[in-house]
Amino acid sequence: MDGLNANSPHARDIRYLVHQQTELRSYREQGGTLMARGRGIHVIDESGKEYIEAMAGLWCASLGFSEKRLAEAGYQQLLDLPYYHTFFGKGHLASVDLAEKLISVAPRPMAKALFQCSGSEANDSAIKLVWYYHNAIGKPEKKKIIGRERGYHGNTVASVSVSGQPHMRLGFDVPLPMFRHTSNPHYYRLHEDGETEEQFADRMAKDLEDLILAEGPETVAAFFGEPVQGGGGAITPPRTYWAKIQKVLKKYDVLFVADEVIAGFGRTGNMWGCETYDLQPDMISCAKALSAAYQPISALMISDRIYQALESLSATNGTFGHGFTYGAHPVACAVALETLKIYEERRIVDHVRAVGPAMLKGLGAFAEHPLVGDVRGVGLFAGVELMKDRKTRTPWAPEQKAGTLVQDLALKHGLIVRAIGDRIAFTPPLIITEEEIGEMCRRFGLALDEAHSELAA
Ligand code: PMP
Repeated sequence: MDGLNANSPHARDIRYLVHQQTELRSYREQGGTLMARGRGIHVIDESGKEYIEAMAGLWCASLGFSEKRLAEAGYQQLLDLPYYHTFFGKGHLASVDLAEKLISVAPRPMAKALFQCSGSEANDSAIKLVWYYHNAIGKPEKKKIIGRERGYHGNTVASVSVSGQPHMRLGFDVPLPMFRHTSNPHYYRLHEDGETEEQFADRMAKDLEDLILAEGPETVAAFFGEPVQGGGGAITPPRTYWAKIQKVLKKYDVLFVADEVIAGFGRTGNMWGCETYDLQPDMISCAKALSAAYQPISALMISDRIYQALESLSATNGTFGHGFTYGAHPVACAVALETLKIYEERRIVDHVRAVGPAMLKGLGAFAEHPLVGDVRGVGLFAGVELMKDRKTRTPWAPEQKAGTLVQDLALKHGLIVRAIGDRIAFTPPLIITEEEIGEMCRRFGLALDEAHSELAA
């Protein structure tokens, strides 16, 4: 960044900040985009350019970027009680209110909620609780955890271990030894010619069963899955997949942790992905839209069966030795509670059901674009997969970076999307209107056309 004013935001950014999930050298050399403000579904960078945030940041800013009520809820809590914890038999009202509200809207009977600051911590806590539970019920050998290839559950040592993201393992000596991974249910990419979604789902369930049998069912403790896959590529499950997977889990007494960190709170057209796909998990992790991303907070909900076991072992041990200083932070709890109230008052799930089809139709119109192979989604969640040859499902060579090209051109046209390999993810704020969806699709079309000219050249 030679020639940059040493006091410019970029010069300072590069000097002091380590960016996350970023190639550090090219970031240092080329810089990036620094946001200064937000308005509705838009963010505005430090030069004043406005973008449609079609990813709601990181699949999270469900109420957009200028919801005053959330700012006010946080401010009021800062005035009333800016900090308290939930250790050693103490607590505070905001966490009690939020736990009660969350349990009341859970997709199936859940007994309790534990609060942390991030989705990673919720899943990390789930892993610890799976182990604690099996110790409590006298099955200490049942400890292995199964995730899925390309699954995304976070970045702590344990949550990245259950994840199946190859790039997040590079250089980090993970996964930990007790983690296993089963097949990625990306039907479009991975089905064999002539294989139906149902047949593909059979194969996925068989892969899981084979893995459990190979490991020994008496050693397999839990399975983690996102109802819809986010970081793995914005992938909806193939028909009948979840029913078949859950059957295998039940057969071998394997706990099911549903990771609702992206899917929860309206994204799929129901309050929960578990409702959309009829899931019956033992634990549910959620975060992101829990507070519309205005505060860092996550929750792990657990069923009564799990809670009873925790309580009994905690009585034997003299404590439940788990907790975070900022877990159930009162400001985050107050903002999350206000978020849940807003969802109800504004009937956000109904809104997603009303506008979701417009997004899937608008993006679906690109299915015949020469650059596109597949468009699929649910609610306000969609993936558009680029293909060199749609008929033969031949992808672009990785060095052509087709996805990154589309992502960069979209940015130029004032649209933020995320390229996951060559699959472009769309999860706009849930408040998006039909008109805004139209504009989002128009800008995306410009990026696709330009990328096509470049790649075809
Ligand atoms: N689970 C899922 C499904 C996620 O998408 C993410 C983050 N994208 C996480 C867990 C981790 O959440 P966090 O980044 O808040 O730790």
